[in-house]
Amino acid sequence: MNIFWFRRDLRLGDNRALSDLSKFEECGAVYIHDASLQSQDDFSSLHRDFIDESLNDLSKNFLDCGGFLNIYEGESVEIFSSLISTYDIHRVYSNSEIGSKPIRERDLALEKLFKSQRVEWLVYQNNGVVGQLKNRDGWSESWNKKMYKPIVQDVNVSRTKKLEIDSSDSISHKLKIYKVDHQKSYNGGEKNAHDQLNYFLNSSGKTYSSDISSPLRSEKSCSRLSPYLTFGNLSIRQIIKATRNRQTELRELKSRDGWLKSLSAFSSRLRWHCHFIQKLEMQPELEYTNMVRAFDGMRDSHSKILFNAWKNGITGYPMVDACMRFLKKTGWINFRMRAMLVSFASYNLWLDWRSTSKYLSKYFLDYEPGIHYNQFQMQSGVTGINSIRIYNPVKQQSDHDPDGTFVRRWCPELRSVPNEYLLYPHLMSETFQKKIGCIIGKDYSKPVVDIKLSALKAKKIIYSIKSTAKAKQMSQDAYLMHGSRRKRK
Ligand SMILES: Cc1cc2nc3c(=O)[nH]c(=O)nc-3n(C[C@H](O)[C@H](O)[C@H](O)COP(=O)(O)OP(=O)(O)OC[C@H]3O[C@@H](n4cnc5c(N)ncnc54)[C@H](O)[C@@H]3O)c2cc1C
Repeated sequence: MNIFWFRRDLRLGDNRALSDLSKFEECGAVYIHDASLQSQDDFSSLHRDFIDESLNDLSKNFLDCGGFLNIYEGESVEIFSSLISTYDIHRVYSNSEIGSKPIRERDLALEKLFKSQRVEWLVYQNNGVVGQLKNRDGWSESWNKKMYKPIVQDVNVSRTKKLEIDSSDSISHKLKIYKVDHQKSYNGGEKNAHDQLNYFLNSSGKTYSSDISSPLRSEKSCSRLSPYLTFGNLSIRQIIKATRNRQTELRELKSRDGWLKSLSAFSSRLRWHCHFIQKLEMQPELEYTNMVRAFDGMRDSHSKILFNAWKNGITGYPMVDACMRFLKKTGWINFRMRAMLVSFASYNLWLDWRSTSKYLSKYFLDYEPGIHYNQFQMQSGVTGINSIRIYNPVKQQSDHDPDGTFVRRWCPELRSVPNEYLLYPHLMSETFQKKIGCIIGKDYSKPVVDIKLSALKAKKIIYSIKSTAKAKQMSQDAYLMHGSRRKRK
């Protein structure tokens, strides 16, 4: 018996490991809802619902061709032990998963089990990430090569068998999943993923480049493909291939209506996807340690009051509060608004990215550890290789929501505040607050910090560390290991 173990690759298309498995007469496919992983502080019901939908779609595809997808709940090691004791397993096939510490620990435990039971475990590389790399020289060329490889056709899984295992005592069914009250904005599964890709490439993506930072318009104009990539309903290569085909078509049509500009901006972001995951592959500690250790200890003292205000979208800065509430309800927000939320937490509220990143991982449906932690570090000024960028939430509101539609939608207590006060509601006179029925400090928060003073203070501390010889040397080392070798235009 040979087994394919689905992890974050929930699809039949472009799945070479699954395709290799399907050549065997005796084979099975399994997915495990790992009890330990799903009880971690970076997992929530938002993720579980999407996984369940993806598995329903996948199971149906297995059944349609006469195969079977075995879905278990429990500890991965225990389930594989049961499978190994019930069947004569020769090989386990899977795709690589660059994840958080508990995922690496699970993999180490399984490696040990497979070795002791003489089971060969074959792990395929699923995207543009390269294993065991020491630095980034030549990475871009290798990425291009991988992305030009032909797509593996949908696999025929008709031979996969139903696998009965003894799940009596050892397997725990008690999953403690953090519950997120969200409004459904994605449908998981391979078919939905392809539909979204086609919709983006042929309809909604035309204004991608101009709408990407608008909290209102980006909801439609961004590709919204990130959860499909995170859970592997689509491979990055499938997206790149479809995008290239569409670009060729548009060039032949001599398109001049913004499509090509948008698709070029979109394509570079697809490369960033792997670029960021590569960092975590090379240095897994980036999940919990600063890329430049000279910044260690900088944000050790932590205000619970400010953290709570940020978490609950009650900071007194309308754009921050609206973005936080929108994100927590929908599971997604655009890049700029994510960066602003983290910049506000890290620079203005002086909160440590290790706490804020874990908190938001439960609310980002597309939570991808390699991108997530590296972006949090970047937006907190601790990488040494990126320039310090402090987003001013008042300016972001004035630039990206000038008429206040987004802010009023997500902070309904500000609905009666006229435009001239919406950037600074606390500046309304008490008489005016009473007149419009929005009392600052009661109906809507007072600003929890002064953004100008807190940003100045943050800059002073960060630049004083950044200019030390130790930090400069560490930044140089970080650049050699992780810095993009592509020249800026
Ligand atoms: C603090 C912070 C945390 C983030 N955490 C995640 C995360 O956990 N998972 C995640 O997929 N993205 C993350 N991002 C990157 C980015 O915000 C999202 O990829 C994007 O908003 C997803 O929406 P989309 O699919 O419509 O993106 P599009 O703009 O349509 O981009 C297409 C794809 O390109 C990739 N991409 C886009 N922007 C980036 C970027 N800046 N870095 C790396 N890849 C990118 C994603 O795979 C995305 O799906 C984070 C950004 C910040 C600032």
